[in-house]
Amino acid sequence: MRYAASLSWRASPLILYPPMPRPIKVSIHTAALAHNLDVARRHAPNAKVWAVVKANAYGHGIDNAFPGLRDTDGFGLLDLDEAVRLRELGWAGPILLLEGFFKPEDLAIVDEYGLTTTVHSDEQLRMLEMARLKKPLNVQLKMNSGMNRLGFSPERYRAAWERARAIPGVSQIVLMTHFSDADGPRGIQYQMEAFERGARDVPGERSLANSAATLCYPETHGAWVRPGIMLYGSSPKGLEVPAATFDLQPTMTLETELIGIQEIPAGGTVGYGSIFAAETPMRVGTVACGYADGYPRVAPTGTPILVDGVRTRTLGRVSMDMLSVDLTPVPQARVGSSVTLWGRGLSIDEVAASAGTLAYELMCAVARRVPVHAN
Ligand SMILES: *Cc1c(COP(=O)(O)O)cnc(C)c1O
Repeated sequence: MRYAASLSWRASPLILYPPMPRPIKVSIHTAALAHNLDVARRHAPNAKVWAVVKANAYGHGIDNAFPGLRDTDGFGLLDLDEAVRLRELGWAGPILLLEGFFKPEDLAIVDEYGLTTTVHSDEQLRMLEMARLKKPLNVQLKMNSGMNRLGFSPERYRAAWERARAIPGVSQIVLMTHFSDADGPRGIQYQMEAFERGARDVPGERSLANSAATLCYPETHGAWVRPGIMLYGSSPKGLEVPAATFDLQPTMTLETELIGIQEIPAGGTVGYGSIFAAETPMRVGTVACGYADGYPRVAPTGTPILVDGVRTRTLGRVSMDMLSVDLTPVPQARVGSSVTLWGRGLSIDEVAASAGTLAYELMCAVARRVPVHAN
C-alpha cells in the first residue's frame, strides 16, 4: 500500500499502528493481465507486441502491471519517468516513447536508457540531427494517415524517412501510424489507403494496430501491434462486443463497503440536490466511494453496482466521498457488506457506458488516495 510513508501517525502515541483506512481499495489482477496479453498474441500470432502502459499503465500502476505483462516484446508509453521505472524494475527490452521526445535534453535520457522513440515532426528530426548520441537509436517514424494529430503527411513521409535515415545516430526505422476509428463504424480503410500511398516504396517493419485493430483487423498487424485497453480487460468495442466475447478478463476491481443504511419513506429523497425520490418505502445503502476516489460524478441513478455480489443500482448524485445504492434486491445487506464499483463481476465497460464515458477514463481517474493491492 502506497500511502503510509507520508503520514505522520508515528508522531502520536494514541494512534494505533497501522492507521485504519477507509474500506475502499483497488485490486490489480496480475494473472488477468498476462491472460489478456495472450489474447493479443492469439489474434496477432506473427506480430511482436508493444504492451501500452501509458498513463501509469492505464491507472493500474507501472509497478503493478509489469509482473503481469513482462512476457511482452516491448512496452509503449509517453512519460520518461515511467520508462525509467521499467528499467529500474529490471526490464531490459524495448521501450517505445509513443509521442517521442519533446526537448533536446530529453535525448540524453533516451540515449542513457536505450529507449525507442517515435518521430512525428520536423522539429524532432532537427533535434536528432543536432544530438550527440552514445548509442544508435531505434525510431518509429509516424505518418499522419488521417487522424490529424501527429505525424508526417503521406506526401511528405518518404522525404522524412530519407532524412531520418541520413542521421548517423539512427539505426532501425519502423513505419508507424495510429487509427482514429478502428473501434467504430468508419473503420480503418481510409487510413490504410493513405498509409499505403505514403509508405508504398519505403522499406521497414510496420506498426499500426491499437487494441481494436489487433482484435478486428488482421490486415493491420504488420511486425508490431500496440494493444493498450484490451490488456486491461476492457473491450475496445464497448458494450457492442463485450470484453468476455473477446475472452478478455478484468484486471482492476474497485471495491469498498456499505458504511450506512437508511430506511426511507415514499417521497424521501437521496443525496445532494434531492434528484432521486423514492416512490415506495425502501432501504438505501451508503457506499464509501465518491468522485474524489475517481468514481464518475456524472454517473446517473441506475448505474450498475454490486452489493454482496448482487447487482443493483446507484441512486441520486455521487458525492465527493460517498454514493448511494438501492438495497431492494439485497435485503440481507448490512453495514460492512462488500460493494463492487467495477471489475470482477461487473464490467467496467457497463459502468463507463452508464456514465457516458469509456473504461479508459475510469481506469486512469482512480485517485491516489485509493490503496492499490496487486494479486
Ligand atoms: C494509446 C495508444 C495505443 C493503444 O491504444 P488502445 O486503444 O488502448 O489499444 C496504441 N498506439 C498509440 C500511439 C497510442 O497512443
